[in-house]
Amino acid sequence: TQLLSVDGLNVSFGRDQQTPIPAVRDVTFSVAKGECVVVLGESGSGKSVTAQSILGLHDPRTTAVTANRLHLGNEDLLSGDLNRVRGSRISMVFQDALSALNPVHRVGAQIAEALRVHRGMGRKEAGNTAVELMRAMQIPDPEQRAKNYPHQLSGGMRQRIMIAMALALEPELLIADEPTTALDVTVQLQILQLLRRMCAERDMALLMITHDVGVAAEMADRIVVMYAGKIVEVGSVHEVLGNPKHPYTRGLLGSVPRIDLTALPTPIPGGLPDPRRLPSGCVFAPRCPIATSLCEADPPPMQHGATGRELACHLEHVDETDGASS
Ligand code: SF4
Ligand code: MG
Repeated sequence: TQLLSVDGLNVSFGRDQQTPIPAVRDVTFSVAKGECVVVLGESGSGKSVTAQSILGLHDPRTTAVTANRLHLGNEDLLSGDLNRVRGSRISMVFQDALSALNPVHRVGAQIAEALRVHRGMGRKEAGNTAVELMRAMQIPDPEQRAKNYPHQLSGGMRQRIMIAMALALEPELLIADEPTTALDVTVQLQILQLLRRMCAERDMALLMITHDVGVAAEMADRIVVMYAGKIVEVGSVHEVLGNPKHPYTRGLLGSVPRIDLTALPTPIPGGLPDPRRLPSGCVFAPRCPIATSLCEADPPPMQHGATGRELACHLEHVDETDGASS
C-alpha cells in the first residue's frame, strides 16, 4: 500500500507576477510504506521544489502548488493541518545541518526537546532517549557529545545529530534533501549506510533527493529521474541504473565512470532550459543526441511498463520484458 501519493503536482513561482515560472510540472509518483525512493536529477530539475511542496514549505504569496492528489496515507496534505502531519508523520533532513540546528542549545538538549514535544516524554526519559538515538547514529561517547554545541562538532557529526533528531519523531516518512552532499566521501558513505539501516529497522519510508548517481545506487529501491521540472523515467534501482532507457538518464550514467561515491561526473553538454521559455516538444530535445523533428514538435507521453517502469520518450520504449540487464 502507498504511504505517500503524489498525483499531478504542479508548482510555479512568481504567482504575484504577470508570468509565473513553472518549476514542477505534472509530477506523479508514490512511496510505499518502508520504501526508499530516490529523486535523481541535476541541480535545478525541480527535485527540492517537489520535496518542499510535500512539506508545505513554500510561501503561498509567491508560490502556487496544485495537485490532483497529495496524500500521506489518508491524510490530504493540501488541505489538512500540515504542521501536525510534519510534526508527527514526516521528518526532514537537509544538507545544511549547521543552519538547521539551534546554535545556542546543546545538541542533546535539542534532540530531547523534540522527544518531549512530539512524544510527550518527561525530562529524564527524553535525555536518556536522546543519548540512545545518538548511540544508534554511531556517535562515539554520546553522553559527552550530547553536551556539545553544534559548532563544536564536525559536519558529519552534525548531520548524524540532525538524523537522530528526525528519528526522534518516529516518522513514517523521512525526506532527505542532499543530506550528505557537503561531506567527504568516506563520511558520506557511513551516514548513507546508517540511514538505510535505520529505515529498514524502523520500517520508515525514505524520499531522498540527490544529483549523485552513486548516492542513488547506494540508497534506492526505486528511482524517479527528473529533468526540467518533469519526471522522465521511473523504475527499480536495477532497471534505471542497469538498463537506463531515457537519453537523459543515460547521459547522467555515462557521466559517471563507475557507480560509486568516488566517481567524478562530467556534465551532459548543454544546460537546463530557461523555465520561462520551455521547449514546446520534449524538454530534453535541445540536449538530446538522438532528437528528431517529432521530439521538437510534441512532448512525449508517459509510457507505463508492466513492472511499474515509466518513461517519457518518443524513441525509446518500455514493455513487460524490460527488467535489469543481466
Ligand atoms: Fe530525446 Fe526525443 Fe526521447 Fe526527448 S523524446 S529524450 S528528444 S529521443
Ligand atoms: Mg536542491
